[in-house]
Amino acid sequence: MKISDLNRFQKFTLITISILILIITVILIYLLSFYEPTRISFTKQKEKSLSKIALAGKSVIPENKETTLVNSVSGKNIKLPIILYHKTPQDFESQMKLLIERGYTAVTMNEATEIITGKIVGPSKPVAITFDDGFSDQLKALEILRKLNLKSTFYIIIGSRNSGWCLGVEKKANNCGDAYMNWDEIKSIASSGLVEIGSHTVDHTSLSSQSEKVQRYEIFESKRILEEKLGIKINSFAYPYGKYSEITKRLVAEAGYKNATTVNSSYIQSSNMIFELYRIRKANDLP
Ligand SMILES: [Zn+2]
Repeated sequence: MKISDLNRFQKFTLITISILILIITVILIYLLSFYEPTRISFTKQKEKSLSKIALAGKSVIPENKETTLVNSVSGKNIKLPIILYHKTPQDFESQMKLLIERGYTAVTMNEATEIITGKIVGPSKPVAITFDDGFSDQLKALEILRKLNLKSTFYIIIGSRNSGWCLGVEKKANNCGDAYMNWDEIKSIASSGLVEIGSHTVDHTSLSSQSEKVQRYEIFESKRILEEKLGIKINSFAYPYGKYSEITKRLVAEAGYKNATTVNSSYIQSSNMIFELYRIRKANDLP
C-alpha cells in the first residue's frame, strides 16, 4: 500500500505517530547526555579530613564543557589534572583552598599513575600537585600543603659535580643563581608522608637535543643517585623544559620509571601516554 492510498485520517495518524517518535528520540538523546559512567569508588578517609578545612570565597571558574571523562578502570582516558609549579606563587594557599573547595583530592604521581592505568581505584576528583627543579623556595609551598594535608610530588635536579652546572641539590656554591634544597631538606620532605620525590635529570638538560648516550646518563644516573641518597624507589620523571623524543620516552621506561610528565597542556590523561602526561599551570585552570 502506498502513502497516497491512505485517507486523510490515516495520513494524520501516521504523521502524528512519526512526530511522537521523533520527540521521544530527542528526549532520550537529551537524557543520555547527562549519563556518566559509574564513578570509581574511593575511601572517604582523606576527603573527610579535607572537608574539615574551612574554605573562604567562592569559585569563579566556569564549568568546563569537556566531556571526555571515562572510568580509569577501562584503561582509557581519565580527567586527572597535574598542576606544575616552579617557585611558590603568591596566592598558592588560595589556589590550594580553591582546589579543595572544588572537591579535588590530591594524589602523588605514583598514585596518579596507578589511577590512570586502572591499577587502583582513585578519588572521584583526583589532582596531582607537582614542583619542578627543587628550589628551596618550594619549602614555603610545602608548609601550606602540610597544613592542608595535601599530597604532592617534587622533581629534583641532582646537579652534576663534574659538569660545572650551577644548579641542583649537589650545587656547591650558594651565590651562583637560584637556591636549591639540600639533601637534608629533600630527605626531610621525602619522609613527610605527603611528598613523593621524582627525578628531573642530573643537569637539567634539554633531552631531545642530546645524544642517546647523554640522555641515558641524565635519566638513569639521576634515578640511581636519588634512590641511593634517599633509600626509596624513584618512579616519576619530569622532562626538563618539557623536551623529549621517542628515544627519551624509551629510555625513561627502560630506566624503570613508571611515568613522566611534560609541559603539554591538558588535564585528560591517557593510560597509553603514561610517559607523556599533561600538566596545567595553576589550580585556577582546573576543570
Ligand atoms: Zn625544570
